[in-house]
Amino acid sequence: MSYDLVVGLETHVELLTKTKIFCGCKNSFGSEPNTNCCPICIGLPGTLPKLNREVVNFAIKAGLALNCKINLNSKMDRKNYVYPDLSKAYQISQFYTPICKNGYVELSSGKRIRIHQIHMEEDAGKLVHKSGDVYVDYNRGGVPLLEIVTEPDISSSEEAREYVEKLQMIMRYIGVSDCKMQEGSMRCDVNVSVKPEGSRVLGTRTEIKNMNSITFMTKAIDYEYKRHVAVIESGEKVVQQTLRYVESTNSTESMRSKEDAQDYRYFGDPDLVEINLDDLYIEQIRNTLPELPTNRFKRYTNKFGIPEKDALLIVKYKNVSDFFEAASAGLKNPKAVSNFIIGQIFRNIETETEREKFEILVSPKQLHELVKLIEDGKINMNLAKKTFSKMLESGKDVTDFISEDDMKGISDNEIEALCREAVSKNEAAAKDYLSGKEKAIKAILGYVMKATKGKGDALKIEKKLVEIINQ
Ligand code: ADP
Ligand code: MG
Ligand code: ZN
Repeated sequence: MSYDLVVGLETHVELLTKTKIFCGCKNSFGSEPNTNCCPICIGLPGTLPKLNREVVNFAIKAGLALNCKINLNSKMDRKNYVYPDLSKAYQISQFYTPICKNGYVELSSGKRIRIHQIHMEEDAGKLVHKSGDVYVDYNRGGVPLLEIVTEPDISSSEEAREYVEKLQMIMRYIGVSDCKMQEGSMRCDVNVSVKPEGSRVLGTRTEIKNMNSITFMTKAIDYEYKRHVAVIESGEKVVQQTLRYVESTNSTESMRSKEDAQDYRYFGDPDLVEINLDDLYIEQIRNTLPELPTNRFKRYTNKFGIPEKDALLIVKYKNVSDFFEAASAGLKNPKAVSNFIIGQIFRNIETETEREKFEILVSPKQLHELVKLIEDGKINMNLAKKTFSKMLESGKDVTDFISEDDMKGISDNEIEALCREAVSKNEAAAKDYLSGKEKAIKAILGYVMKATKGKGDALKIEKKLVEIINQ
């Protein structure tokens, strides 16, 4: 029998707010342990939390960008559990009334992965294991999180990968999170089940906690799928439980049996007031959203004729996409700009982090000027590429490398004369071409290009040559 894979993801993203969710402590990654803490975020009795407005604003932004409905009234609840990284023995979260409901992320196939809800909550501290001892670092305690929960709509590990990548991209565009999985600012809990092909009834699920790499997430999903199928085929039942993925063996192991909502004894946090919003407030936040990557992608492919693969590379990083926007504004051929970015700029900045930062010496204006010269027929592509390499190394303008004289280009008459000269001096090649050896034209083309010192447009010249040879 064949089985369908069913996956639902719960993704935590850490917000880039200046301060923590319920106190004024700095929200930053990588500080000395226990230096960004106060009595509130280490959970001392008698302290009172106060909700950070920026967290609410970021949650609304995320909700709008993920096509959600924003709840005008929501509140915070306590989720009770005991663990050393959470000294007050409850996490403040939203259980009964999450701030955002019913959204979706659209995959490239057009399939929509529905978002069940987004809620705000605080992160817990971190246990550090060192030479047999355990230390607690509370810097992360009280760092604001959004938990973004999908419906069980994902049907393959590849869809899961695309969903997470899209989510990452959208959160970065709107500036609410840097979503760095290696640093833990984005983590996924992966719920997996299988069911007989086409069946409407969902199977029993297992949940793999805290995945912090997309590649390992897809491996974990594929592993669980096979494991569930094997369990069912052997006549046994899948046990609902919480699992951990083990990288070294590419398999999962049990952490604990699944806990239910009732185990946490959720109740409204009596220390915090309700969050009451109105439509005007939400519209004001909507107006601060930038153009989203999905929209840019559509514009680049449909309007500018940029191949999908290239458009994806540009759109993936907001800094790159913003650079592209600025450099291509007002040009007839934005595609030339994307070719320079992908062909030449990306050659020297290869890692994800570098592309994310996109710190290069050339400004959008400088690339714009270069492409404008090509569009105006003043320099050819060959010369432009060579010049751009020099610009990238030095940060200097195109006019520092190309003189007025070079930019005058070369007249059609001059080209025609040079082509005729080339054909008569390369008779053998011309004959070869006429007898069907198409490559022979390249030798004659090379002669002309050399004579124009690279100023001529190779395509144009080749056309002219063919015309002359065929006369
Ligand atoms: P909990 O709060 O106990 O983790 P939820 O019902 O809120 O459980 O679901 C959490 C996640 O698990 C959601 O993303 C949901 O889509 C997914 N999920 C629920 N049932 C299944 C299932 N049978 N197979 C796969 N995913 C599931
Ligand atoms: Mg869960
Ligand atoms: Zn604090």
